Amino acid sequence: MLKAVFFLFFFFSFLSNFSHSKEYIVTKIIDGDTIQLENGEIVRYIGVDAPELRTKEGLSEFYAKQAAQCNKRLVFLKKVRLEYDVERVDPNGRTLAYVYVKNLFVNAELIRLGCARAIVKPPNLKYKDLFLSLQEKAMKEERGLWQEKKPDTESYYIGNKRTYVFHRPNCRYAEKISEKNRIVFRSRFDAIKIGYSPCRQCRP
Ligand SMILES: [Zn+2]
Repeated sequence: MLKAVFFLFFFFSFLSNFSHSKEYIVTKIIDGDTIQLENGEIVRYIGVDAPELRTKEGLSEFYAKQAAQCNKRLVFLKKVRLEYDVERVDPNGRTLAYVYVKNLFVNAELIRLGCARAIVKPPNLKYKDLFLSLQEKAMKEERGLWQEKKPDTESYYIGNKRTYVFHRPNCRYAEKISEKNRIVFRSRFDAIKIGYSPCRQCRP
């Protein structure tokens, strides 16, 4: 039995390595960080977050359209290769991947152009340092979405070192963060700079 399990394990890890070199045509741009492949598979780029075309309130975030255009220009109707990290799918069933068009690393390029923010989402951290350094440069040069100046509306923000999400001080999720995982930021900018994502509830 154990032997069979080991065999299956090696067999599938062989298959997954093999699929690295496989190429797919991108048939649809869903938004600045999500695409659909010719086989119907939805792929969410790892480590990046583009402004949303349509938020829960039905609004479009700053630079959302341009970000989707940016993504389109890089991958639409092109052949892409996928590389994976620790998690292969997200809770919505989308494939999580690093995407390449020939030698162009699309996730990194979107950050470099200011078409997406770099986000840290454990455990998928393979290119965290690269993404954060590209983002720092894009922020400095005020490229793309970094042209927006969003003022701080709180005097401080609370982050969770385990999940890399940050909150307004009065958010009920912020109250639940253990002392050990708690980090305080003086501004949104400080949190975003090191890859923290705004909480979807309190929307700091
Ligand atoms: Zn919150």
